[in-house]
Formats: sequence, structure tokens, C-alpha cells
Amino acid sequence: MTHTQNIHATIDGPLVMIGFGSIGRGTLPLIERHIGFDRANFTIVEPSDEYAALMAAHGIRHHQVALTQGNYRQVMADLFPDGRGFCVNLSVDVGSLDMMALCQDLGVLYVDTVIEPWPGFYFGSDIPNADRTNYPLREEMRALAAKHVGGPTAVSCCGANPGMVSWLLKEALLTLATDLGHSIAPAPQTQAAWAKLMCDLGVKGVHIAERDTQISARPKPMGTFVNTWSVDGLLSEGYQPAELGWGSHEKTLPPLGHRFETGSQCAIWIDRAGADTRVRSWCPTAGAQYGWLVTHNESISIADYYTLGAGAQPDFRPTCHYAYHPCNDAVLSLHEINGSGMLPTEKHILTEDEIVSGGDDLGVLLYGHAKGAFWYGSRLSIEEARANAPYQNATGMQVTSAVLAAIVWAAENPQAGIVEADEMDHARCLEVQRPYLGRVEGHYTDWTPLDHRLNSFAEARDDSDPWQFTNFLAV
Ligand code: NAD
Repeated sequence: MTHTQNIHATIDGPLVMIGFGSIGRGTLPLIERHIGFDRANFTIVEPSDEYAALMAAHGIRHHQVALTQGNYRQVMADLFPDGRGFCVNLSVDVGSLDMMALCQDLGVLYVDTVIEPWPGFYFGSDIPNADRTNYPLREEMRALAAKHVGGPTAVSCCGANPGMVSWLLKEALLTLATDLGHSIAPAPQTQAAWAKLMCDLGVKGVHIAERDTQISARPKPMGTFVNTWSVDGLLSEGYQPAELGWGSHEKTLPPLGHRFETGSQCAIWIDRAGADTRVRSWCPTAGAQYGWLVTHNESISIADYYTLGAGAQPDFRPTCHYAYHPCNDAVLSLHEINGSGMLPTEKHILTEDEIVSGGDDLGVLLYGHAKGAFWYGSRLSIEEARANAPYQNATGMQVTSAVLAAIVWAAENPQAGIVEADEMDHARCLEVQRPYLGRVEGHYTDWTPLDHRLNSFAEARDDSDPWQFTNFLAV
């Protein structure tokens, strides 16, 4: 694999990374390769000293502190004294919305990969389930964005998904348009034009369809939660209620499904954990498969971005949700958690050295159009990931290269205010990211969620329209 070794953008002032977990460590070599920065002015804020030697080896200052609601203002003000710089937030348990707002006040550019709340939101709280979804977090972010139009650029939720998949979706729509003989000159430039294109192509819905096939040689020990990225991150989102963008073609709410009463009303939530809610989906490596309907910001942002009209009954809106088959060890880990109802005491993220084979198919599955279903995305093997850059597996690399693209785009567009990936220049972002994504491919399939049963049993199904959510939901 050859890389563009060039510097894509330069950061003026301090560079601060918050969190040095699997994604932080993987992002570091990409920043070093493609971003101009002053090493003496690069600080990693990280409470753990587990990787202190690695930071030292890279000549980067380690500020060993856990950010809290009580100290984050002072810590950040000290690190950004003069209204310049860049904050890359790759932590868990640090309130993204507070960090984002503070960066607006400090005049600092900002990127994160999730709207992370402060501790107390995900587990053990008395917050009603409707409010423990991502919808209100995103509504709050949109309200903050409305207050800071033209402010320092802050990219919300920009990893692989949420993040990269929004850029892949635009490429997928342009490809589908060409393949269907639909004119795309001029290419869409506005939200309304993109939504109209999706509507005109007959797309009814979009899965963020992922299959992680990475395995290690060592069987997962019982009681240890194993994943290819943050265990805490997967547990947090997996045990929020399932949530999805709700398309205008849908006829009936799913069992335990609820609408939101305020805001864009582009999504619904289901009163059960995403990590215990299965959906039928399709990825190139596995073909037909089950995924989990884990809540994600992009399920909401994509449904919102591709809406024509407004409110609960728009003229057009796609259904959109995650259909996630994590690595085999994580499937087994979630199975254990679903059974025991207890959070794990032992957690482990598989490293690039212990993974012996596999990779990650991560893309968008556009369904309901004249060609049936179309998967478009990144198919990255562990071998390719290892060859591309150190400190990460294939899943990590799809995330860290998206973080890199977000940093570059923010540096090139420093007064864009608070944005989501759907609102960024997808072509520029994918140009930066593509060398790290392995094969970026499109696959048509005649699969529908009504196919593939070993035996037939009583089930809720709608044979008159294969693309109703009822048919995807396997529970
Ligand atoms: P990780 O669990 O490996 O690392 C998280 C790091 O945050 C740890 O090093 C931890 O010590 C640090 N941290 C914990 N509390 C902190 C505090 N109070 N102040 C500062 N740092 C603190 O997680 P990861 O795999 O590196 O993921 C990082 C974040 O990225 C998570 O929020 C995760 O959900 C998100 N993520 C997003 C995507 C995406 O595609 N959008 C993909 C993977 C991960």
C-alpha cells in the first residue's frame, strides 16, 4: 500500500488530544504523517499512564488528568491560552457538548467521534429511556450549532460511523444514479438537492451495514468483554434504547416503538437495548446476516439530512439505522452480558498483533430502489491495516482515518461553526481518507429481508413491501 505522505493541513497553535485509547493511539501516527504541528505544543490529556512510554517515545507531553465537569474549563483554558489551536476529543466520559461549547469560547477548532455525555447518563441513572437516547443529545448539539453559526469549526461525531459513512453515502448515491441512468449534472450541492436525489432514485432506507470478521488465536475467556474498539463505548451505546431514523414509507411503528414529540421528529426509539435488538442486513463478506440495531448519531443525522419537508409526516425521509455485527468475540461478550445483566470487570481490545485474520466491511446499504439493494463501503483487512500504519486494527483504521479527514477539513474550513459529517465536503474528506480504507467497493444484491429462513415460523412480516422495517426486525 502506498500512502500520500504529504502534509494536508497545518495547525496553528496548541494541539490537544483528549483520550489515548485505541482510537487516540491509532490517530497519532496519522497526525504525524499528514498534519503540520509544533511537537512542543502537542499535549495528550489522559488519566491513565498505561501508554506513557509511547507518548514519550513520540516526544508528546502527557497531561495525566481525568477531565470532569469541575475541572475541564480550567484544564482547557491553560492548554489554549491565546485563542488558537485544535482539540481532538477521543475520550470516553467527557461531555462532548460542554467541550464543544468551551472550544467556541476559546476560539479553538474541535473534532470528536461521538456526543459523549458526562458519567451518569448511560448506566444507573433515573433518566427516562426516551431521554437516554441519542436524539436529545443531537438536538442539544443542533441548538448549540444554531448559536455559533460561523464560529470556529467543530466537527461533531466524526469517526467511521458516525462520520465516514455519511461521505460514503454520497458517493453511493452518485454511483447508483449513474447505474440507473439518472442525470446527476450538476452534482447536488445543498441538503435539499441531496435529499431530492435520494428520493428520485427510489431509495427507501439505508443501513449502516458492518461485519467485523477479525479474530485472535486465543479463545475469549469467559467473563472478559472483548472487542476491536472501546469496550466502554460499545457497552454505553449498546445499552441505550435502540433508535433509528424513521422513513416516510413506513406503515407501522415496531413493537415498543415510540416517536419523539419535539425537534425534527426524524427518528423513533424502541424500548429495548440496541445490543439485544437484531435486524436482518447484508454485507459483502458474509452476505445475509444479523446485525444489532445499536443506536448511533448517523441513524438520526442521515434521516434528518435526507428529509424533504418537515416534522413527523415529511414528503420524503429514508429509514436509517445501524446493523452491526461486531467481531465474534464481541458477539459472545454481548451474549454473556445480555444473560448476566452485569457489566464486565475484565475488558480487552484486540490489538493488531494478536488478530490473526479477518477485517472489517463497513458501508452503507441503500435499499428499495430499482436495483434492489446496493452496499457501498470500505473492506479493510487486518493485513492492510498493519501495513498502513501502526497501533491499530482494521476497525480502528476506518475510524482514525476519518478523524484525520475531519481534522484536515476543519483546518481548511476554520469558520464553519458546529457541523456534522453530512454537511462536510465528502469528496475532499474521502480523498484524505481513501488510502487507509482498503478496497472501497460497491455491490448490488437481490437480497431482501424476506429471504433466508431455514424453516418458516409465525412472524410479523409484510409481503406487500419487502422494505418495511417490520421485515428487517428480527428481535
Ligand atoms: P478507549 O476505551 O480505548 O479509550 C478511551 C480513553 O478515554 C481511555 O484511554 C481513557 O483513559 C480515556 N478517558 C476516560 N475518562 C477520561 C476523562 N475523564 N478524561 C480524559 N480521558 C478519559 O476508547 P476508544 O476505542 O479509543 O474510543 C474513543 C472514543 O471514540 C469513544 O467515545 C468511542 O465511542 C468513540 N468511537 C467512535 C467511533 C466512530 O466511528 N464514530 C468508533 C470507535 C470509537
